[in-house]
Amino acid sequence: MNVKSQTAGRLDLHTHSTASDGALSPSQLVSEAEKVGILALALTDHDTVEGVAEFLAAADSHPALTLLGGVEISLEYPNEFHLLAYNARGAPGIPSELGRLQGFRDDRNRIMLEKIRALGYDLSWERLKELSGTGQLGRPHFAAALLEKGYFKKRQDVFDELLAKGRPGYVDKIRLTPAEGLAMTRAAAWTPVLAHPFTLRLSADDWPAFMRGLVDMGLLGVEVFHPGMSEEESRFFQALAKRFDLIATAGSDFHGAAKPHISLNWVREHSALGMETIDRLRR
Ligand code: AMP
Ligand code: ZN
Ligand code: FE
Ligand code: FE
Repeated sequence: MNVKSQTAGRLDLHTHSTASDGALSPSQLVSEAEKVGILALALTDHDTVEGVAEFLAAADSHPALTLLGGVEISLEYPNEFHLLAYNARGAPGIPSELGRLQGFRDDRNRIMLEKIRALGYDLSWERLKELSGTGQLGRPHFAAALLEKGYFKKRQDVFDELLAKGRPGYVDKIRLTPAEGLAMTRAAAWTPVLAHPFTLRLSADDWPAFMRGLVDMGLLGVEVFHPGMSEEESRFFQALAKRFDLIATAGSDFHGAAKPHISLNWVREHSALGMETIDRLRR
């Protein structure tokens, strides 16, 4: 009997916790994953590894699960795209620039607050911090603060009028380039994997050259199962992974109630990848 078929769909390498914009704490995430029969789980919060210690500590009470610390880094080229990185080989440190990314975000939030105040909205830094709790402060909390003050009726209105890219309350984030992101993850001995590649909106003809560039910069894997992907796209990226000898991965991009349409069950129903993927990530 082959091992692949036994564990197919029981690996989820892309999830978010309260350390970024997910609804479950890292330990709750582990418990929920175990309930739906996941065997290997990675925590990949946006630009932070704040939740990883709690996540890995949950291994004691869930010995059947393989847990990987990870991160999802936003890169710029030419539009934003996302790089997952995993500490699959038990490296002692974290990618070097992650702390700096938090600093960028903090600066951006303060500039955004000044901008929005200058437009006549009465918002306080203290209230924004309360709303973000243990997670990372960002535009969703600005939206929540403006809604509770009654300036807008719907969350989407706040984005459409004020916070979306190009609107008067928007401030761009400073992001790393693909070369910087890949270099720092490889330098830390973390395994870099291109997240939800369809979001780059490249044509099928443009993908090989683009992928070749990323591989030359150190890319080791690509996410080929993700809820935003059609089956056709999934097959396309599986073929591309094969062609460039990249590790194919699967992730639900679970955020809990923060994005209620995605359940942790997603990989069980859609992904063909199992535990052999973990062996490849560790190599
Ligand atoms: P930030 O990381 O601070 O830029 O915030 C990004 C988050 O803001 C996203 O994950 C979405 O939840 C939300 N967001 C960004 N753009 C929009 C938009 N145009 N409409 C609604 N929500 C948005
Ligand atoms: Zn997210
Ligand atoms: Fe992403
Ligand atoms: Fe994500």
